[in-house]
Amino acid sequence: AAGGTADRLLPLLTAVPDHPVPGVVFRDITPLLGDPGALREAVGALAGLLPAGTDLVAGVEARGFVLGAAVAVAAGAGFVPVRKSGRLPREVLVESYELEYGSAAVEVHADAVPAGSRVVVLDDVLATGGTASAACRLVERAGGEVAAVVVLAEIGGLGGRDALAGRRVEALLTL
Ligand code: AMP
Repeated sequence: AAGGTADRLLPLLTAVPDHPVPGVVFRDITPLLGDPGALREAVGALAGLLPAGTDLVAGVEARGFVLGAAVAVAAGAGFVPVRKSGRLPREVLVESYELEYGSAAVEVHADAVPAGSRVVVLDDVLATGGTASAACRLVERAGGEVAAVVVLAEIGGLGGRDALAGRRVEALLTL
């Protein structure tokens, strides 16, 4: 049952106060990743949140790589890395987004998404939604259709759903 899943997985998302800066409660998923049963359950449940017909999972560096590749395999989809600036070796598309202080950018290979592909943007945590929103814009500029944004955990009250208004958002857990 979904409730059972939350009961099992939530204790494995460790809250780390004031990381990486004062005032932020960082949600550390490494205890979940290190627990074989929890990892299997999380990956299976996330794969179950993918819309039917998903062709590709676009995982956001770095924790979205770990979960995203496993979910892609479980769902029979391919995997596309959405990376921080300057890491991908070939032609890229770039999307910048605002952080609380300053800005950041994510990139995808320009040829990573075949035209019309149905793509799920996947990450560990949804907070303000800036990262996922930028990843969605990348997927669309690359020629894909964003079928959904899927996250392991959504932090409520930070505006993530609003930033992704009009998009399907699926969260396995709510914090
Ligand atoms: P945002 O763009 O604000 O939605 O932030 C989401 C991105 O930053 C994801 O890639 C998360 O891994 C990371 N992130 C933001 N806030 C947290 C948090 N409190 N705990 C863990 N990761 C976070």
